[in-house]
Amino acid sequence: MNAIAENIKQIRQRIKKAALDCGRSPQDVGLVAVTKTVSPEKIRKAAEAGLDCFGENYIQEADKKIKDLSDTRISWHFIGHLQSNKAKYAVRLFDLIHSVDSLKLAKELNRQAARHGRVQKILIQVNLGGEQTKSGAEKQAAEELVYDVAGLENLSVRGLMTLPPFFDAPEKVRPYFRQLGALRREIAAKNIANVEMAELSMGMTGDFETAIEEGATLVRIGTAIFGERS
Ligand SMILES: *Cc1c(COP(=O)(O)O)cnc(C)c1O
Repeated sequence: MNAIAENIKQIRQRIKKAALDCGRSPQDVGLVAVTKTVSPEKIRKAAEAGLDCFGENYIQEADKKIKDLSDTRISWHFIGHLQSNKAKYAVRLFDLIHSVDSLKLAKELNRQAARHGRVQKILIQVNLGGEQTKSGAEKQAAEELVYDVAGLENLSVRGLMTLPPFFDAPEKVRPYFRQLGALRREIAAKNIANVEMAELSMGMTGDFETAIEEGATLVRIGTAIFGERS
């Protein structure tokens, strides 16, 4: 077995254990393999090892790799910061966009999705740490954004995503994961038409087990599968 396949096997076991340990079904936790800076050859290895969902951060980089891998059955997710002027590419390339954080971007995605005659699935990215340098709508704004996006016919809100402040210990990140879980329940309880709070995208290499304990349905893992990025 190659190193990537071995890593994937271990990550799958850790995901399964984390889910079972907190009474969740392992099937309810999806793995998004994060492939920024990772070559198409390595992505192909990961796909051959059974992964079918990959996350990219940059449109140009993704566009090239997605072409290279067009013979596979990969579902591509966009997880990076998205500018409105790139919305047209994002709609063409990605099944799920995790990083919608403004009405301006949502409206442009909606317009482009309509042009392609499709409904684009999105997550609302929430900035819980209040960090100026990170994208994401602040908690209050995120709730309002969900209401506004609900009215856009060619978008389908599938849940929430967060990229918490960096800490070296997962326990320090837990409060952010917990807050996102609480926000999801709060919004779900409002039963907004055209809004489904099915997904919670949170947890990366250093903290995905904690995220699973706090309800993650999509963990985004790069380093633990492909090694350190240069
Ligand atoms: C790079 C990245 C990840 C993966 O991080 P690792 O620590 O390598 O697992 C997850 N989410 C986002 C938004 C990223 O940019």
